Amino acid sequence: MGVREILEKEQLEREDLRILLDSQKDDKKLLFRRAEEVKLREIGNKVYFRGLVEFSNICGKDCYYCGIRRSNKKAHRYNVTDDQILDAARFAHENNYGSLVLQAGELESTAFTERIVSLLREIKKLSSGKLGITLSLGEQSREVYKRWFDAGAHRYLLRIETSNPELYRKYHPKNTLHDYQNRLNCLYTLKELGYQTGTGVMIGLPFQDTGHLADDLLFMKNFDIDMVGMGPYIEHKETPLFQYRDQLLPIRERFNVALKMIATLRILMKDINIAAATALQAIDPVGREKAVKVGANIIMPNITPGKYRNDYALYENKPCVNEEPEECKHCLDVRIQLVDGEIGYGEWGDSKHFHKRNEE
Ligand code: SAH
Ligand code: SF4
Repeated sequence: MGVREILEKEQLEREDLRILLDSQKDDKKLLFRRAEEVKLREIGNKVYFRGLVEFSNICGKDCYYCGIRRSNKKAHRYNVTDDQILDAARFAHENNYGSLVLQAGELESTAFTERIVSLLREIKKLSSGKLGITLSLGEQSREVYKRWFDAGAHRYLLRIETSNPELYRKYHPKNTLHDYQNRLNCLYTLKELGYQTGTGVMIGLPFQDTGHLADDLLFMKNFDIDMVGMGPYIEHKETPLFQYRDQLLPIRERFNVALKMIATLRILMKDINIAAATALQAIDPVGREKAVKVGANIIMPNITPGKYRNDYALYENKPCVNEEPEECKHCLDVRIQLVDGEIGYGEWGDSKHFHKRNEE
């Protein structure tokens, strides 16, 4: 079956998804056009901002792909102070960003849990409850997730990274800290606690093909996820996966597959929130805008204080590391208009899917 026929189908099977992900030239254009139509029809052209604060690169884990993994002794570790985090939150609020994302390396400790609780309360206070707060702080116990939810966090991002347990084992050390089933259980817990739940995968990892990626999309559909953030894998010299760099798709091709993943997911899950990942912009200066054109509706402008940005090096060539938040803002206004989008200032921009899921 060709791409044109597949796009007319009510229900997409694994093989259909794989064909869409492998599409080239005119077929790829058909896919992109359909994804754009679906997005405009289902959720409109609004793009919502989540100010991203990458507040610490101190991490207790050792994921084989990540530049800030615990064993990378060359990483210069930092921890933004609470006051600076609150300043960033104030910036997001004053500039009508609607929401904030607090992201960091993974730490499990009472001190860390309590630090986040007090930050959540302060951020709620300084924005009179207006700023939405997303957390992306890895795997935690149910009690911790619940404490954070009760303190004001309402969305959580935890990428499954790959939905294939065998691949997962290849990308992580073999110990309980890096267990596929634990990560999956965390996603179920987050959903059960009432969080708008987000996941995602990396695209173009070694050993991964479009069949795996089709399975990843079905995983998101079957899990009935509310939000997705996924982007290309970008190798980092000081990591174990770097040894496979010769087996990877060329970086430009990884970027293309990432766009096709976003477009296909928009067709598969019409009303969820899909983020245009920063890693897209690391490859193409207008990568995030291209993603918005083919289905994404969330952008996470980096509002980490400028001097720390270089050190949150999950991968190499991270974009905008030399800019301050104020500069990003103007830059983004113009960029989104270029792809006929409109920024939803001052709105939370919740996943429509989440609200529908809870009405049923
Ligand atoms: N520590 C938390 C959140 C920070 S890491 C966690 O792991 O959940 C955020 C995301 O960065 C990860 O989920 C992973 O998908 C992505 N990432 C890490 N290394 C990467 C790389 N080399 N290329 C692209 N994305 C990467
Ligand atoms: Fe730590 Fe997240 Fe990087 Fe894994 S991906 S090493 S948990 S920061």
